[in-house]
Amino acid sequence: LASRDFHPADTVIKIKGVEIGGEQLVVMGGPCAVESPEQIDEIARLVKAAGGQVLRGGAFKPRTGPYSFQGVGVEGLIMMAEAGKKHGLLTITEVMTPEYVDVCAEYADILQVGTRNMQNFDLLRKLGTIQTPVLLKRGFSATYDEFLNAAEYILAGGNPNVMLCERGIRTFETYTRNTLDLSAIPVLKQLSHLPVISDPSHGTGRRELVVPMTKASVAAGADGLIIEMHTDPDNSMTGDGVQSLFPDQFAHLLQDLEKLAPLL
Ligand code: PEP
Ligand code: MN
Repeated sequence: LASRDFHPADTVIKIKGVEIGGEQLVVMGGPCAVESPEQIDEIARLVKAAGGQVLRGGAFKPRTGPYSFQGVGVEGLIMMAEAGKKHGLLTITEVMTPEYVDVCAEYADILQVGTRNMQNFDLLRKLGTIQTPVLLKRGFSATYDEFLNAAEYILAGGNPNVMLCERGIRTFETYTRNTLDLSAIPVLKQLSHLPVISDPSHGTGRRELVVPMTKASVAAGADGLIIEMHTDPDNSMTGDGVQSLFPDQFAHLLQDLEKLAPLL
């Protein structure tokens, strides 16, 4: 079902007037984690002012270590839903277990499956039983075939609203946190009809690389971007402050993307 052979036309996912996979370049911006109502409200205001369409923020965080901050949970979903509604943005948040799919879908417009859960088949099966759009991140060691098979689980269950997200893979290079596989963007667009989103934040792990790799992703044919932005990155509650853009960088980047669009 994920294959272009089966479905030649691009899939366009329509959510409250925003089209993902169509003509419009969709930008999802926000913090790694929802921290407080004030934080998410202010960041939502900045995402909207910059021209973004979707507010990102994790309420449940998949942390590598068990003692790290794990997210604020359901309260975070509520804070983010309020900020999204107030500022006219869609929202996207990560869901980690099948039991939390329903509550996350109640509050968020798009559900994110993180890289560590790409092959959490119980989670994928559960996501196939609803119609809420899903952003499926590529496992950091997954081949394209494994990635598309993971998407297939959701599609096979009856949910056609799946977008694929390249977020960097593990390579021998240690300078960057991951290696953003730019080739994944045109390859996935060729093999599949599903929208392809790029995550240059986790793909590089370094703020100074997010701007060029965002532009490169757009040039490579991405339908959208998911970018971390924080008002106070140095004091963010996850380690992802080092890859979060400052609000003015985010705003300038979106202006540059508008200039880039007509050239492509
Ligand atoms: C995130 O989006 O904050 C995140 C944890 O992403 P990933 O699953 O790609 O590491
Ligand atoms: Mn993050």
